[in-house]
Parts: sequence; structure tokens; C-alpha cells
Amino acid sequence: QTIEEGISNASGEDGDEVLSPALLAREISRRRNFAIISHPDAGKTTFTEKLLLYGGAIHQAGAVKARRAARHATSDWMELEKQRGISITSTALVFETSGSHITLLDTPGHQDFGEDTYRTLAAADNAVMLVDAGKGLEPQTRKLFEVCRMRKLPIFTFINKLDRPALEPLDLLDQIEKEFGLLTHPVSWPIGSGDRFVGIYYRPRKEVHLFEKDKSHGSREATVQKLSWGDPTLKHIIAGDLYEQLQEEIELLESLTSPLDKEKICAGDLTPVYFGSAMNNFGVEIFLESFLENSMQPIKHDSDIGDIHPNYPHFTGFIFKLQANMDPKHRDKVAFVRICSGQFRKGMKVKIGRTGKSISLTRPQKMFAQDRSTVEMGFAGAELFCYMRNPNPSKYKQFQKGISELLGEGAVQVLYSVDSGRSDPILAAVGQLQFEVVQYRMLNEYGVETQLEPLPYTVARWVVEGWPAIEKAGKIYSCATVRDQWGRPVLLFRNEWNLLQLLNDNKDIGDLVACALPP
Ligand code: GDP
Repeated sequence: QTIEEGISNASGEDGDEVLSPALLAREISRRRNFAIISHPDAGKTTFTEKLLLYGGAIHQAGAVKARRAARHATSDWMELEKQRGISITSTALVFETSGSHITLLDTPGHQDFGEDTYRTLAAADNAVMLVDAGKGLEPQTRKLFEVCRMRKLPIFTFINKLDRPALEPLDLLDQIEKEFGLLTHPVSWPIGSGDRFVGIYYRPRKEVHLFEKDKSHGSREATVQKLSWGDPTLKHIIAGDLYEQLQEEIELLESLTSPLDKEKICAGDLTPVYFGSAMNNFGVEIFLESFLENSMQPIKHDSDIGDIHPNYPHFTGFIFKLQANMDPKHRDKVAFVRICSGQFRKGMKVKIGRTGKSISLTRPQKMFAQDRSTVEMGFAGAELFCYMRNPNPSKYKQFQKGISELLGEGAVQVLYSVDSGRSDPILAAVGQLQFEVVQYRMLNEYGVETQLEPLPYTVARWVVEGWPAIEKAGKIYSCATVRDQWGRPVLLFRNEWNLLQLLNDNKDIGDLVACALPP
């Protein structure tokens, strides 16, 4: 059908449910995606982790790294990836922050740069260029930049590793302007570098953010001390020569740099520039905030029947990457789809434009990265619960060790039943794949074959006032009472409706049920 027919034919078919224009507009405006372009070793992995941390997706960064550091585990992962035919370590990470829904498309950053990267960039609306402050622009960054330029992608520049000896910031800007023909607008500005790195000056708020080496090795959100530029104590904190230099540079920037013009950013003509140290969680928060403000929301895509705008009411998308399943037993492929319009529903019927064939999308795969990270938020996203059983009593110790280590690592969340008296742990997950990963690792790393027993719950809620409130309420029939790893009460409901019912029927406890996060 033509686009006009599609718009007038507003009744969805085969699961293609049409969203109301208002809802659609809201969803479109809160969505952002980007890919990171950089040269190997600039800090892409580190930066990605810190973004997820600030995005509230993981409470303790290091999961990605820890996995990589443990060689044994790494090879197991690779094996699992092969078996499943999906790339767990690359592709896409999804996280929510400040009401925005962000997709980070992973471009293979290393020697294997090639087709894959082009394809992934084809699905991106924005690019983040990560530059090592000590090295400036490097070959792979240049190549990837060319791809972004062809697509006129908005580019945001993060200059990393300011805690190490760095090139002069003005020279770095000059390099970007001259080599890439981009206008630059530094949103933040570094004060010193290496051993003398004091912090950054945040231009929109005229604030100095003081750098402190991160003692948690970057695993927690940093608390940054912020002082306004007029604060007299600054003169005592920043060494005289650096203070004077900063004073001059602030004036220079005001007169020299182009204004932060969103239209120019979105046209790919101007890049906002941020300075920081990903490893120390420094400068990342500002970047995220400013990125959300200035980046491009989903835009139209061209097709054989004309431009498809994101507010086109029906589901459309394009496949930007196919990955063959390497397991000979399952000769299927995973297709990565960039949704251009409408809403995806499991089981919906779609037509493949190239062949004209219709297929049902019955087996969507959730991204593991998303599962892993959102589950660490608490059980905010957990919708699946099951008992994990160890059928072999002689493996009791290994089973306990495996569960507690995987729990510690954040690979899974564990609950224990209270009212059934059963001692098997209950695993909580966002997606089925997560259970499979845990089972796989229990077997390969701890030598324990486990069994899963699904539970019929889909919603978990903490009880703010703890056990006394539960006792006061007496027996609650519409849910199961369990405890989390810290012994706090959690209620598991079959569905949202049961939860609502409890809130209505039992005002006492209703008021005490926390939202999805632990109190
Ligand atoms: P990738 O190859 O681009 O993914 O880079 P990684 O994130 O693996 O980082 C490469 C190396 O640089 C690692 O040893 C990191 O610890 C280090 N690194 C990353 N960010 C920073 C930073 O802000 N400061 C310093 N000093 N080192 C960093």
C-alpha cells in the first residue's frame, strides 16, 4: 500500500496495533539512539559502562569489564554466543534515563572494523566520537567519521583520559575543525591535564566541577563538587597559572566558538565537545545530560514508497544486520531490525519488502545487555520468575557457591520463598535468555546441572514498611510473599491486575507497597 493508504487505513491487522497519535508522538520524542565511533583503546568500553551507570541501568559498573578480564569466563561467553548465534557482547544496549529511552548501538571497535560497522551506523541517528586526549584523532576514528559524514549524522565529541597527559584542548578543537570541517562548541572545558588535572569548567552553568580520582575504581556514580565561577575559594583550589589560563580561555571561548545551535548539530555541521575521564566517571554525567538535550530524535527513513516518518501509524523497519547461528543444529539467523515507525508486537505479521513474503515475528530476542543491566536496578524489569533446583545432593556446595557468586556478580537476582517453606532459590529475570545464561554458567563454571521450574508471577513489589506491615495485613491471598537477598519482604503477583486488586482491597498494605524498586 502507499503511505497515504497506510495512514488512512488506521485499523491494524495481524497484530499491527495502531497507537494513538499522542502516544506515538510521546514515544518518538523520548527515544534516542547513538553509536560510538573511536579508535581502539580510546576507552569505548569504559565510557559505555559509565553511561549505563549514569543512565541508572546498572548500579555497579564493571560487569562488562569483569567478564572480559576473566579469561576463562570470556571463552565460555564466546562459546555461548556461538551456540546461540547471537552476539551478546556487541550489538545494542538499551537503557532508560530521565524519562528518555536510549539505545546504544555497538560498532565493533577493534581490528574487525568493516561491513558490520557500516551496517550498524546505518541504524544510528547520532554518533558519539570518543577521542583520546593524549592522541587526538586516530586512523579508525577518521574512517568512521567519513561514514557518519556520508549519512550526515549529528556528532557529539567526548575527549577522554584528561587524567593523563593531554594535547592542548585548543589544538584538539583545531584538529577537528580543520580535518573534519566541523564547527566545534566546547560545552565543557578542561582545567589542566594529567597530574595537574583539576576539573572542568561547565560553560552553560558557569560552574567549575572539581576532579577527584575515583576511589571505587569507577564502579559508582561519582559525586562531583561543583563551585560557581565567581566562588572566591576557587583561587585557592586552582593553581595560579592554571587559574589565569582558564580565565583567558573562558573569554576566548566566548568570542571564538560558534553558539550551540541544535539545527547545526542535527545537520552534522557542528559538534558539541565534552572533556572528561571515563575511567574516573568524570564528565560523563554532563555529557549525557547535554546529549539528551541536543541530539536528534528518530527521523524519517526513505523507502521504495517514499519517506517513512516515525509517526507513520503502522509498523515498519529495516534489517541492518543478520547474524547466522553458528550452532549447526539450529540453522537460523538473527535479524537486527531498526524500527522506523509503529509499534512492535511479538507474533505480529510483517512483509519482507525485498521478497514480498509475509512472516510472523514470533521469536523476538531481547538484548542480553538490557536484561542484565535493568535487572541490576532492582527487579524493575523482572517479569519472569522460576525456582532453580539442584537435583543432585552431592553438588550442594557447588550449587550454593555458584548461586552466590552469580548473585554477587549481578548476573541474576535471587529471592527465597517465605510462605511455602521451600528452600530452592527463585531466580528473577527480565528475559528467558538470562535464565539460560545462568544455567549454562552453573554447568560450565561450577559443574552443576540445574533444573528450572517456572513460577506464574510477572510483577514484584517491595513492602516499604517491611515485615511488621505484612504481619499486620494477615494472610494475603493474591500474591506470594518472598524475601530478597537482604531478607526484605517482596510480594510477587501474577499480573498488574492482581496488584491493583490488592491495593484496592487492602488499603493498609496497599499504601505500603513500594514501586518496582527496593526501598
Ligand atoms: P576500548 O578499546 O576503546 O574499548 O577501550 P577500553 O575502554 O578498553 O580502554 C582502554 C584502556 O584505557 C583501558 O586500560 C582503560 O582502563 C583505559 N582508560 C579508559 N578511560 C580512561 C580514562 O579516562 N583515563 C585513563 N587514565 N585510562 C582510561
